[in-house]
Amino acid sequence: MPGNRFRTLTWGRYALDRRARCEAHAVSAVPLAAVAPSLSDPNHDEALAAHAQTLLAQLIQFNTVNPPGNEEAAQEWLAGLLTGAGFSVELLSAVPGRPNLIAELAPTGGRGDGPIVTLLSHVDTVLADAASWQHDPWSAHVDDDGMLWGRGAIDMKSQTAAEIAAAVTLAQSGWRPATGLLRIVVAVDEEVGGTLGARWLCEEHPERVRTDIVLNEGGGALLPIGDRRFYSLGVGEKGVCRFVVRTRGRAAHASTPGVGDNALLRMVPVLAHLAQAELQLDLTDAPQALLEGLGLLTDGRSPEEAVQALREQAPDLAPLIEPMLRVTAVPTMVSASSKINVIPARCEVRVDCRIPAGMDAETARARVRDLMAPLEGIELDFTETIVGNGSPLQGPVVEAITGWLKANDPEADGVVPTILPGFTDSRWFRATFPECAAYGFFPHRHMPLTQTYPMMHAADERIDLRDLSFAARAYRDLVTELLG
Ligand SMILES: [Zn+2]
Repeated sequence: MPGNRFRTLTWGRYALDRRARCEAHAVSAVPLAAVAPSLSDPNHDEALAAHAQTLLAQLIQFNTVNPPGNEEAAQEWLAGLLTGAGFSVELLSAVPGRPNLIAELAPTGGRGDGPIVTLLSHVDTVLADAASWQHDPWSAHVDDDGMLWGRGAIDMKSQTAAEIAAAVTLAQSGWRPATGLLRIVVAVDEEVGGTLGARWLCEEHPERVRTDIVLNEGGGALLPIGDRRFYSLGVGEKGVCRFVVRTRGRAAHASTPGVGDNALLRMVPVLAHLAQAELQLDLTDAPQALLEGLGLLTDGRSPEEAVQALREQAPDLAPLIEPMLRVTAVPTMVSASSKINVIPARCEVRVDCRIPAGMDAETARARVRDLMAPLEGIELDFTETIVGNGSPLQGPVVEAITGWLKANDPEADGVVPTILPGFTDSRWFRATFPECAAYGFFPHRHMPLTQTYPMMHAADERIDLRDLSFAARAYRDLVTELLG
C-alpha cells in the first residue's frame, strides 16, 4: 500500500481439534446491583471505573491457570452479567468445562448494514507460583498506591473487565447500536495456542464470530522516549521461520576422545556466531511508520542511525522495540548424545526465528541462509514457517483511537503502530476474516511498557487502577463512535 503511512493520522508534535464436541450452555442473569454502583448514566466515569475494578477483582479470584484452564465458572458468571444487562449470550465449548463466551447487543430495529465490532479477550492465564509473589496471585489485593494485584491483571483479565464494564454500562443505560452489532468474545485457551478458544471459534464456527472490527490485546502501551510519551497501537504480529542446525561427527567412547569426532563441539562456533550476529534491519510498512512516528527516522537519518538514537534516548525500551524492526534468530534447544559416556555423532540446535509482519517466507529463509552462510560443515533445515499478520495502518478504527487519545491525553506526543514479536488471538481472526481490521489496544496512561511487559507471565503482576478506568472509558467511547 504505497503512501499508506500511519503518520498521516498521528497528532501532537508529529504528524484443533476438529472432532471436538460443541456444547451450548443455558445462562441465568446475575443481578447488576451486585457489581455496579450506578449504571443509569453511561458518562459517569467514577461508576464505570468502580464497575471495571469490581469485575477485575472478581475475575482474578477465578483461578483460570491454563493448563488446565477451568474457565467455566468465570465464563458463566460473565454470561449472567451480560444477560442481565440485555445482551444475548451464548457459551460455545469445544470440550466440556471450557466454554467460550459470545455476547451480542443489536440495534432495536435490526442490524442494518453497520459494522460488527468485536471486543475480544481471553480469560485464561499462565501459571503463578504464589511463593514468589508479594501478594497472593488470586487475591486481587489493592495496595496503597492504587495497584490491583493478581495473575491476569495485565494479561489480560484487565481488558476483559474494562471491555465488559463498558459494554454492560452502555447496555444498562439503554444505549443500543444505531446500526451494526456490538459483540463481546471472551475466549478460553489462548495461553497454549487457542486450539479450544479463538482458533476453534474461527475455524469451526465462523458464522458466529465473523466480524468487521476487532479490539484485542497487544497494544495501547505507553512508550516513553526521553521526555516524550507515545501510545502504541498493535497493528500486526511477527511470524516465525524456525529452523534446525545440525552438525555431524563420529561416535566413540567418551573415555577416548581422540578416537571420535564430537558433533557437540562442532556446534560451538555455530552458537558463538548466533550469539553475536545481528541481522540487518528489515523495515516493513508498520516499523517504518513506527520509527517515523517516534520522530527517530527524520532528516535523512538512516534506519541504523534511528535505531542508535532509540538506544540512546530510551535504553530500557529499545530491547522491546528492536525485535519489530528485523528478523531475530535465538537458539533455544539443543540435543546431542543421549548417554553421558558416548561422544555424539550428531548434534542439533533448534532456533526460534521470528520474522517481521509483511515479510514473505522466501525472503525470511534467504535471511536465515545469509546468516548461516559463514559457517562451514553444518546442515540447515527449516521446520516451521508462518508469515506475520497485520491490519491496515489507517482507517476508521485508527482514526477513532487516535482521536480519542488526543482528546483524553492531550499532553501525549502521538500514536504509533507497533508489531507484536509474539502472537495473540488476533491472528485467527485476521486469517479467517481477511477483510476484518483487528487492533491491539488497551491504553495505559500511567504504566509504561517497560513496567508492564516484565510483569506478563511473571511474579507480582499488577495494574494501576487509573489505567483500568482509562481503558474502560476508551472502550465505552470507541464503541459508541464506531456504532453510533
Ligand atoms: Zn494474553
